[in-house]
Amino acid sequence: MIPVILVGAAGRMGQAIVQAATSRPEFSLKGLVDLAANLRPMDGVWNSNLDAMLERGDVVIEFSSPLGCREAARACAARGAALVTGTTGLTPEDEAALREAARHVVVVRASNFSLGVAALRRALNAALSRLPGWDIEIVERHHRGKADSPSGTALSLAGDAAAARGLPAERALRFGREGRVGPRSADEIGVHAVRGGTWIGDHAVLLAGEGEWLELRHVAQDRLAFAHGALAAARFAARRKEPGLYDIEDVLESQTG
Ligand code: NAD
Repeated sequence: MIPVILVGAAGRMGQAIVQAATSRPEFSLKGLVDLAANLRPMDGVWNSNLDAMLERGDVVIEFSSPLGCREAARACAARGAALVTGTTGLTPEDEAALREAARHVVVVRASNFSLGVAALRRALNAALSRLPGWDIEIVERHHRGKADSPSGTALSLAGDAAAARGLPAERALRFGREGRVGPRSADEIGVHAVRGGTWIGDHAVLLAGEGEWLELRHVAQDRLAFAHGALAAARFAARRKEPGLYDIEDVLESQTG
């Protein structure tokens, strides 16, 4: 049994992971952590203090907030527990905390834990290698409650596209357009965030050529898509002995050999 502690357990993703883990006997949900105001003590072992329940050998799955991510990274490194983290919108300081934790323990980090998005990223690289010079625009849609924009997944896709074109991402990415911005340059990658309703996650990469265009699109219909990916990452983290910062590609490679 893999002992799992869930940080952000009362949230949208936390509840999806509870649902997914409950149907998988190899995982035991040892603890549910959230902010004190959101604890639901009638329903499982809840605590607002991760340190209080964390032991060596546990796997923490964290989908909460940048602060929750940083706190989980520190606690996991101190206690010798592995960390699977999906929180997006991290600051450079949060990223540094993850890298520091990864010097001591296994950390699996992904802006999107769905298998379909992992496949989309590979398909995008293949398409870009065949379509030099086509314009790249990314459009993402999410529910009205999403805190960060654009999504971490859109930034990952844009980063992949910039790398494939040999462009520095910090100069190539164009977040929305407004006013007389003039014609589009060949070296820009447009990134656009749509917010509303209950969209779980929708990412379209548009590749536009002369008189034709191609759309590569992934639509998450249920948060269980991310939850099952996070559990696969937890299994990977429990087995992996070498500390380090891993991503969903490492998890997929370990499954397919
Ligand atoms: P949510 O707001 O529904 O839930 C977040 C939960 O975390 C809340 O219950 C909140 O009380 C709790 N929380 C916040 N700060 C905390 C802290 N310091 N300690 C403990 N608990 C804390 O959000 P959500 O939709 O579940 O998304 C959570 C994060 O996961 C977001 O950053 C989102 O972008 C990301 N996300 C990632 C993926 C992926 O595949 N990587 C998929 C979906 C969402």
